[in-house]
Amino acid sequence: MSSSTRPNLRELRERLAEVVDLAQAAELLSWDQETMMPPRGALYRATQLAALSGIIHERLTHPRVGELLAELEEPSQRANLPVIDQAMVRVSRRDYDRATKLPPALVRELALATTEGVEIWRQARAANDWASFAPALERIFHLKRQEARAIGYSGEPYDALLDEFEPGMTVAQLVPLFGDLRAATIDLLGRIERAPRQLDRRVLEQSWDTAKQLAFSEDVLRQMGFDFEAGRQDLSTHPFTTSFGPTDVRITTRADQNDLPVALYASIHEGGHALYDQGLPAALGRNILGSGASLGIHESQSRLWENFLGRGRPFWEFALPKLAAYFPEQTRGVTPEAMTAAVNRVGRSLVRVEADEVTYNLHIILRFELERLLLRGELPVADLPVTWNETMREYLGVVPPTNSLGVLQDTHWASGLIGYFPTYSLGNLYAAQLWHALQRDYPDLDARLARGEFSVVLDWLRSRIHSVGRSLLPNQILERATGEPPNPTYLVTYLNAKYRALYGV
Ligand code: ZN
Repeated sequence: MSSSTRPNLRELRERLAEVVDLAQAAELLSWDQETMMPPRGALYRATQLAALSGIIHERLTHPRVGELLAELEEPSQRANLPVIDQAMVRVSRRDYDRATKLPPALVRELALATTEGVEIWRQARAANDWASFAPALERIFHLKRQEARAIGYSGEPYDALLDEFEPGMTVAQLVPLFGDLRAATIDLLGRIERAPRQLDRRVLEQSWDTAKQLAFSEDVLRQMGFDFEAGRQDLSTHPFTTSFGPTDVRITTRADQNDLPVALYASIHEGGHALYDQGLPAALGRNILGSGASLGIHESQSRLWENFLGRGRPFWEFALPKLAAYFPEQTRGVTPEAMTAAVNRVGRSLVRVEADEVTYNLHIILRFELERLLLRGELPVADLPVTWNETMREYLGVVPPTNSLGVLQDTHWASGLIGYFPTYSLGNLYAAQLWHALQRDYPDLDARLARGEFSVVLDWLRSRIHSVGRSLLPNQILERATGEPPNPTYLVTYLNAKYRALYGV
């Protein structure tokens, strides 16, 4: 029997296609909430989203899905499936197990603890009141320990949570990756601090009409290959990307009249995410394999475009004349070198989301180390602010003056997102490895980028990353694209070469 006529395969595909449809409809409601919804719309939006998420969970965990999976996993059936359908069965099994292993009571309790947690965190951060948030965080970690136990792991509990965001990744793999990166970054940061010259970013801090900024960012997106027939850009407080299938991908950005990079790099970053989503194969539309492989792989796309391409000198050789067409006054006498220096200034920062390319990973490694200790019960929640501040001093050389600027700055833990932070730095590690392979394949890459030939990059990513969807694990995708599993050397080498040249150290 050919695979297309195999009834159980067809039924599984159809059931999961409906899950994908419903999930994308929920995404549309969320997109609207962040961009267009009038304030009073919030009243019904929460229940609309909760209703959809209940239906999605019900459809995904339907007993019939379990039966179909069990049939298709029989060795005799599995062996006759095309490779892509074997992948679909494997990925569906993973999603099905993650959704069914958690007892409903635990799911409800987690939903409650995190909804309340976010609200308590919001007030605690505004009032710099750690003590009011500590019990909520304690409760969330307690529940996340139960979640890890229910899902199961072979190494340590953290692995079960990390696997949700980065399938296949484990603490045992992360520790050496991050260890090398941490030591090299602390060393580089010290050299930059002692450098004879510091970078000047005053050119960026002029008055830049925001409507013109947005028009410029759209020109850059078009040059990157973003398809405005299959997507759009709007404004929101926190930039994000969402997809309703490869032919409708939405990004948002934000603009600051007095700081040029805010809008430009938000657009390029989200544009990188969007190119991935627009590049997912049409053949995997409405298929559970038709989305990004992991948060780390997704982030590798956004960071590659934002930092490796967008903060490079070749980019500014191309982009400065385009910017000058909108802003002749502000760019008079400015060179590509000056723009490159300005957008790459490094500083010891307190806040993750404001950190530069060098220090960013130290913020992530700190969070990974602390959340791992918290989950293992080796760091009491009560001791968290002190340990946070000590680690900040050790890694970044600064101590937050308040908990609001320290341990209370991120929403992730309050939202129950434990095991999520590492994917940001994995994105940087993967991006560096991909960039190295791209340069190997195109020795004249810089010259091409200076001419605006960004399609070289997009075509390369399309064939090596985007076309795969979710059919391989992140490590396998990286190995397929670059010839080796994740290796921190590439990011360390890139950061050293780039910033030692910029700072003359
Ligand atoms: Zn991102």
